[in-house]
Amino acid sequence: MNRTGSLIERGSLIERDRASLWHPYAPASGTLPLWEVEGAHGVRLRLRDEHGERFEVLDAMSSWWSVIHGYRNPLLDAAAKRQLADFSHVMFGGLTHGPAVELAERLLAMVPSAPDRPALERVFLADSGSVSVEVALKLAVQFQTAAGRPKRQRFLSLRGGYHGDTFAAMGVCDPVDGMHSAFPGLLAANVFAPRPPAVATATAEDIEHWRAGLEELAARHSDELAAIIAEPVLQGAGGMFAYPAECVRILREIADRHGLLLILDEIATGFGRTGELFAADHAGVVPDILCVGKALTGGYLSLAAMICTGEVARAVSAGAAGALLHGPTFMGNPLACAVANASLGIITTGAWRSDVARVGAALASGLAPARELDGVADVRTIGAVGVIELEDAVDVPAVTQAAIRNGVWVRPFRNLVYAMPPYISSAAETEAMAAGMVAAVAAVSHERVGAR
Ligand SMILES: *Cc1c(COP(=O)(O)O)cnc(C)c1O
Repeated sequence: MNRTGSLIERGSLIERDRASLWHPYAPASGTLPLWEVEGAHGVRLRLRDEHGERFEVLDAMSSWWSVIHGYRNPLLDAAAKRQLADFSHVMFGGLTHGPAVELAERLLAMVPSAPDRPALERVFLADSGSVSVEVALKLAVQFQTAAGRPKRQRFLSLRGGYHGDTFAAMGVCDPVDGMHSAFPGLLAANVFAPRPPAVATATAEDIEHWRAGLEELAARHSDELAAIIAEPVLQGAGGMFAYPAECVRILREIADRHGLLLILDEIATGFGRTGELFAADHAGVVPDILCVGKALTGGYLSLAAMICTGEVARAVSAGAAGALLHGPTFMGNPLACAVANASLGIITTGAWRSDVARVGAALASGLAPARELDGVADVRTIGAVGVIELEDAVDVPAVTQAAIRNGVWVRPFRNLVYAMPPYISSAAETEAMAAGMVAAVAAVSHERVGAR
């Protein structure tokens, strides 16, 4: 294509995409199937495939956990328009604005708290979840240095965890399933504890065995560890794996005993998804540092936050550096903050609790028939998350295509076909999502059985 190429020369949107863009975890060769989004409203996407065929599908993914209140939500649309009429961006160095202050106050009013723990008091606004994790890890190291323990520069993380794609975040992701082998010289050598036992089958002995192993690792490495980092109760992108709340309490106790900060990554689980406002609330645990993102703006704009206790904030501010050493260009973007305030306003009504219960119940009953299918290893739900785990890796293009033909958008990974629908999904819509997933898994497993 030349610079003045006409629309006709340029070909279809999907062809132009294939000639010019990268997609997540994808080759540039552009052979993977791709659908054009022509519109989105409520819980529905209007898709067009490369042959021009159109599909209206229910979005079982909430655009990667984020669109909890649905597409074109009137309250979020109005908040964005109001803020656009004021200003959509100003730098955050030396300046402040209403949307950021309101957002910090809203977040601090809803994060986990307990009478016997230092309160989360200070918010750092970041532009994505991965960046908020980077900032959390930096802050933990700066805290230990300020406290006179400069050798504490490593992290204790759980196997099966996922914390983002930037370098420090990758370094605390699962060392096998994460991207450690691709960047061996660049990722910090962190300490990994076994994954906690699965919530569905964990016995008291399993939990005690896991606790003892964690305690041993923390004790052995305590003089070089700055913090423990974990996704509480539900590991998301690392395998949609739920573990007992008791294990989050154990993380808290062990962190305290060995002078480590506890960083809880609630980028996926925050704002009600697991059935409590934060997954840490299942355990009654208050972290020293909390990361939130994904659903923060209801999926409208990229925004995340790192929230820490006053104690940590004061120690770092009084340290030699005299500051938290981070400051992105688009920090505290007013447009994103304004939409986040509208989204948290909806959360604050408390309707999420019955929404998540309704969606979770419809997923549980709707996905149950998958248990009878060939090649299905497990079916589970937690909060408004439903998972079909297969015995083998999913044929992603085949399952995606079959699901679309059954009216549902899913994005399987590894051996998992899962749903985390928008909270506004009705019981009937959620049941239709589950039915579409079951039909897609059945169609692909029949093909496979037939091909044998
Ligand atoms: C998605 C996710 C991240 C990374 O967030 P991005 O906004 O994609 O950078 C980090 N931690 C968890 C638990 C996540 O689910």
